[in-house]
Amino acid sequence: MRPTIHQHQNRALTIHSILQQVFGYEDFIGPQQAIIEHVVAGGDALVLMPTGGGKSLCYQIPAIARARAGHGVTVVISPLIALMHDQVGALHEAGVDAAFLNSSQSTEEAGQIERQLLHGAITLLYAAPERVTTAGFLARLDSLHERGLLSMFAIDEAHCVSQWGHDFRPEYGALTVLHERYPSVPRMALTATADALTRSDILERLQLQRARQFVSSCDRPNIRYTIVEKHDAIGQLLHFIGSEHAGESGIVYCQSRRRVDDVARILCERGIAALPYHAGLDAGLRQSNQNRFLAAESMVMVATIAFGMGIDKPDVRFVAHLDMPKNIEGYYQETGRAGRDGKPADAWMCYGLNDVVNQRRMIEESTAAEEHKQGLRGKLDTLLALAEATDCRRVRLLQYFGEASKPCGNCDNCLSAPALWDGTDAARMLLSTVYRIRQLNDIGFGTGHIIDVVRGKTTEKVEQHGHRGLSTFGVGASYSERQLRGVLRQLISIGALSINPHDFNTLTLAQAARSILRGEVPIRLRQSAARPGARPDRPVRTALIRAAPGLDKPGHDRFVALKSWRAHVAREHNLPAYVIFHDATLEAIAQRCPRSLEDLQGISGIGQKKMQTYGEDVLRVLAEL
Ligand code: ADP
Ligand code: ZN
Repeated sequence: MRPTIHQHQNRALTIHSILQQVFGYEDFIGPQQAIIEHVVAGGDALVLMPTGGGKSLCYQIPAIARARAGHGVTVVISPLIALMHDQVGALHEAGVDAAFLNSSQSTEEAGQIERQLLHGAITLLYAAPERVTTAGFLARLDSLHERGLLSMFAIDEAHCVSQWGHDFRPEYGALTVLHERYPSVPRMALTATADALTRSDILERLQLQRARQFVSSCDRPNIRYTIVEKHDAIGQLLHFIGSEHAGESGIVYCQSRRRVDDVARILCERGIAALPYHAGLDAGLRQSNQNRFLAAESMVMVATIAFGMGIDKPDVRFVAHLDMPKNIEGYYQETGRAGRDGKPADAWMCYGLNDVVNQRRMIEESTAAEEHKQGLRGKLDTLLALAEATDCRRVRLLQYFGEASKPCGNCDNCLSAPALWDGTDAARMLLSTVYRIRQLNDIGFGTGHIIDVVRGKTTEKVEQHGHRGLSTFGVGASYSERQLRGVLRQLISIGALSINPHDFNTLTLAQAARSILRGEVPIRLRQSAARPGARPDRPVRTALIRAAPGLDKPGHDRFVALKSWRAHVAREHNLPAYVIFHDATLEAIAQRCPRSLEDLQGISGIGQKKMQTYGEDVLRVLAEL
């Protein structure tokens, strides 16, 4: 039966008042309202929204609205046990009855939550998929269902169900039981990353074919994409942080655990607060580092890709990749952790010839089936093309996810069009050297040696193998080593050269070499601007507290006082500071300089519960200044 106009208006009123009263926000953003209306009315949904797009409210508001209407509990399935505590804490701060069940709890704690659950006292219950699908838990759900108190399922991070996604979790497959057992209970699946293939996989595996799909643009306009050529990665990183993000929070991704440890140590030595995170650290330390990062105003997390899923710290100002990731999905998801609060943020990557060689080698050395390797190679190629691109990075990124767009004006290439040079001659020199050496010695050589030969450097290896006699010896003496490395990188990226990992990473000509040798395909390279590295002897400047730019001096003092009060409350509640109030909320308070609770009314981020709990305290902090 179609809802009447009257019912429809009522529903819109209800969800809007929940938005304002519980969460303290004035208006919905993006497609939130449409999604929430659909779900409140009992519809199934697939929600694809970029990080920071406001997915949580899309199930939290329906959960609250439906619980108020007597439908009972919403079960939120999330793979991120480590973050449930903060998510539930944030709901408590807003006055919502929420709880979580996971393996970090004692049997007594879990038992108590289950009793509350059966009494219908919980609006949102967070649980991991392996917990939800146990016989014991399903029996509890049966009991709720029989009494009409099982309102809805929200499956977060739904891409985990797909083998095509990069976070495949087999436990997600078992979630079909929910649909089979409770066909009348609405379900929604939410994710931030899914290309078309992953999306159809989610629909099929979770049997959501009939669900309405809400697919938002995955663009993150506030993130500036920059990809630089690597020459001294750590020096470049120090310079990047020191010049653009001193005193702010960010994430630095590295390929290996050892590198994570090294980089974290070096940052600390240079006066930048940094913590390591990788699967080699013990679970307790990992968790405590994560908590410290979440709670901090100014902290750099140096991590392998083991870190980050579900991290909803809003004020991560940069994500840096010190090594190249495997594919665009991974890259986009990792960079997406920057700037969730919508304020300007940076995605910065530094990559070089070795990254290309390493990634290729890892694929070739893996034990995957040839067909799968082919897929991996294709994904790597697309990422390489992005890294080498001289046009808008964002256009390419969005295109990968099936969205057409115009040059963005907020990536390195848009902001300053790179100067190009014609590397076609150099490319031919390199390719014919590889070819001739194979002919002469019947063995291959690595990149360094090929460059030496082309530049005419007399090394031991050159003498030993008689490479001084090659017709290409020294033909490229006018090129710098760095230029030739750039050309080699492109040649490998476009498949003109391949790397044999089983033979000391030696180079061989590949398919695309022919047309380049014939001069049919030009090679254009960006002129590498010599970027300054950080002075190694100097500690990096660290700002104390970044002022909110819109505030005058007294406003800034109020802001600082509010932040320090917030830090105190957060510690007391054992929650990250942003769960108490976002920076933007404190900034608005500092701006308005309220004298009464009425003055506080209507500031974004202050719902009824927070007003009751903290309103007087905030006024007192300001009065004491
Ligand atoms: P996602 O899970 O999609 O990455 P979140 O649900 O964490 O995003 O929301 C991102 C940020 O936007 C959060 O800080 C949240 O409080 C804020 N937010 C969400 N919806 C609104 C809204 N309607 N008005 C103002 N802020 C919002
Ligand atoms: Zn651009």
